[in-house]
Amino acid sequence: MSGGITRIAPESIISELSNWSLEAGSGYNDGWTRQHYQNQLDRIFSHIDKMRMSKEEREIAEEKAKWVCTECEKSTFETDHDYLVSPTMHLGCQLKLDGND
Ligand SMILES: [Zn+2]
Repeated sequence: MSGGITRIAPESIISELSNWSLEAGSGYNDGWTRQHYQNQLDRIFSHIDKMRMSKEEREIAEEKAKWVCTECEKSTFETDHDYLVSPTMHLGCQLKLDGND
């Protein structure tokens, strides 16, 4: 440790992220390279989003992750209860499984 409490200064992080952002948008880079930098940024952004969530928001996000249809693998969380067989099955998906479509 070289004295400071934080290992990396915020300025360094911000400057690095700014570089990634420039690389992600630069026409001088090929598609793979732009995507690489964009993926790096997306990982950071989603991590920060999670860090900034309140306890309640985190609990909702965890609950939401359980509400996924086993048939189509889409979220059932926002689906009206009338259109659900269970939290893990859309009514439409169940009907298709039963061969009534
Ligand atoms: Zn479904």
